[in-house]
Amino acid sequence: MEGPPRPYTEYIHDMIKRNIGKWKEHRFVEPGIMEHISDNDKIYTIRVASTSNARYSTDTIRKFADLADKYFDGYMRFTGAFNPEFFAKTLEDAKKLKKDLESMGFPVGGWENHLWNITSCAGYFHCALAATDAPSIAKSLGDAVIKYFNKDELPAKFTLAVSGCPSACGGAYLADISIVGIHTEIPIVTENIKSCDLMGTAMICPVGAIQLKQAEKTIEIRENLCIGCGLCVGACSGIIFRTPEKTDGHAVIVGGKASSIPPGTQIGRVVIPFIPNDPPRYELTVKSVLRIIETWKKEAKKGERLIAWIERIGWEKFFEKTGIPFFKQSMDDLDLRSLMLLREGGGK
Ligand code: SF4
Ligand code: SF4
Repeated sequence: MEGPPRPYTEYIHDMIKRNIGKWKEHRFVEPGIMEHISDNDKIYTIRVASTSNARYSTDTIRKFADLADKYFDGYMRFTGAFNPEFFAKTLEDAKKLKKDLESMGFPVGGWENHLWNITSCAGYFHCALAATDAPSIAKSLGDAVIKYFNKDELPAKFTLAVSGCPSACGGAYLADISIVGIHTEIPIVTENIKSCDLMGTAMICPVGAIQLKQAEKTIEIRENLCIGCGLCVGACSGIIFRTPEKTDGHAVIVGGKASSIPPGTQIGRVVIPFIPNDPPRYELTVKSVLRIIETWKKEAKKGERLIAWIERIGWEKFFEKTGIPFFKQSMDDLDLRSLMLLREGGGK
């Protein structure tokens, strides 16, 4: 598109535009319906659970567009966490809209002391760096935790995020529970290296583990420095992981949050350093996440976010109460050699 960015006010409903700066308060009416109150108007937002990795068929998008036409003059939006959100001008319409969405099979909920969203990166769909199938894990987790979106209450707000690798495009580290894909192998250089931009490949390594061998028209990976991030594998088809089906897996990270409520934004800590990939349903991962949620639900005070509960009781008690085994790699030691040792059954 050419030209300067167009003003965002071109894309919002008049009712919202005329209330910019005039909103006084909002309240949650029931799961999935929020009322926004200004001096002049009331508007209702209706929140829908996202599909895994925010993939929607054109058929679904057309149905969404029909609902937006019917209830709010063609306006709707997707949140940054992929949830479709619809609007209504009256509470009566909001409730009707909720019923319409539920009859299409879309759960309406989120907000308050419920699951707010599950975000996931594209994983293998579009990305050469993935160590785990983020959308599949998001789907498996979603099926297991959807009851917390609008039925079962939790102590406080709760979010889940899945990222295919530590780059964390899926928003991992800042969710209450995150899953992050991990490579536990040092990549090798193959014959195809000749087709790669050698200088560019060497430059991409964040720890300087790639040594350029100009004369031989190749590169060498210094194994003692490599952290197994996979960036070079993504950049050059001549560098591969030998047995990713055996060595790739993921970690479970707990206690992140992106919030201004004290103590502010927090980065999650590693509580399960390595689970081998186990498609299609990732049973151990799902079971571990459910165990953490249920323990928090049983033990926390009302309004206590997962990290607030953990900080009150202490991390030692967290491991004790959830029954999650403590490894020496837990609590953030995701060093490649340490993880390799753990994968092979050592490191306790
Ligand atoms: S988190 Fe990793 S696997 Fe997922 S899209 Fe980002 S770079 Fe790719
Ligand atoms: S995997 Fe990462 S650390 Fe290892 S050589 Fe490649 S870019 Fe460097």
